[in-house]
Amino acid sequence: MNATPHFSQSYAEARDKFLAAARMRGAKLMHHVHPTERGAAREELSMDFALLGSADAAGLLLLISGTHGVEGFCGSGCQVALLHDPTFIAEVERSGIAVLMLHALNPYGFSHLRRVNEDNADLNRNFVDFGSPLPVNRAYAEIHSMLLPATWPPPGDSETRLNAWIAQHGRKAYQAAVSGGQYQYPDGLFYGGSKPAWSNQVLRGVLHQYVSHRALLGWIDIHTGLGPRGHGEKIYAGLDYAADVARTKAWWGDDVTSFLDGTSTSAPLTGINGTAAHDECPNAVFAGIALEYGTYPIEPILEAFRAEHWIHNHPKAPKAQRQEIKRNLRDMFYIDADDWKQMVYTQAVQGCMRAIDHLGETRIYA
Ligand SMILES: [Zn+2]
Repeated sequence: MNATPHFSQSYAEARDKFLAAARMRGAKLMHHVHPTERGAAREELSMDFALLGSADAAGLLLLISGTHGVEGFCGSGCQVALLHDPTFIAEVERSGIAVLMLHALNPYGFSHLRRVNEDNADLNRNFVDFGSPLPVNRAYAEIHSMLLPATWPPPGDSETRLNAWIAQHGRKAYQAAVSGGQYQYPDGLFYGGSKPAWSNQVLRGVLHQYVSHRALLGWIDIHTGLGPRGHGEKIYAGLDYAADVARTKAWWGDDVTSFLDGTSTSAPLTGINGTAAHDECPNAVFAGIALEYGTYPIEPILEAFRAEHWIHNHPKAPKAQRQEIKRNLRDMFYIDADDWKQMVYTQAVQGCMRAIDHLGETRIYA
């Protein structure tokens, strides 16, 4: 199937395509419109849910796009293409499972071309217990002011100090310091937030209402920006439970990686969104992955993050500079080329089909 027409150039276009495709399939649609924010073109922002299949199916596959805003171009394209794919739809019907597609967990970031949300919060670092002491990322604290200096491009002396830090600690430690998540710098990179975000609360509510009574939950959260171009790394997306890791590998293969044991290209993270499945659906047996598609090497991607955060923190910067930085961020997370889209989609279908195979066996759990 040619998936490329189902990808979009803006959040608004992606949302329209998703809703049209879901209606065409007769899916049950739920909309959670953002209570305070509008999009870059002043459009409505919404977390949209499409539920396919039996309301009381024991097994449910949750397919998430746009956890990281701008990464939603990829996940949305896959969701819309799946809804148009007769083979996928036939398989859902044959298996008797339910599929819940969440379009744009972070619609603000999708529309405004940010990875983070309206609170500058990273929704894959936001699912921590804000009632307990928050994790402290000391390495990030050492380099925060070098990552986001007063001027952009960064001054030479600041870059020299940052490069000295990287040389001393290594690139792996640098990636972990920057991307692992931090809770002390609200204007910084990979900030986890100071409270459960709006998207966090909506996701939890929907999981509670539509998923918690199921026996089995399969979870695929589509991301971009790590790994080789067009390759989908299957990164375990749950908590540190051996049975869940083993089940996830049984479903998707031994090439499932995990930052828990150092096998993933991802650094160890705090506050991932899979936490919500554990909290809200304690009786559902869980298997889940982040499907992380490669675009470009990590160095230019981290540079693009830094620039976009800097421009966000400097609203009076020149318009041309802003447009260039925004455009570059989008291009770093969404390769607007047919071969990349087709590679991405092929692996998304494979991932869904494997999940459906196992979810369809839920009678043995009932
Ligand atoms: Zn991501």
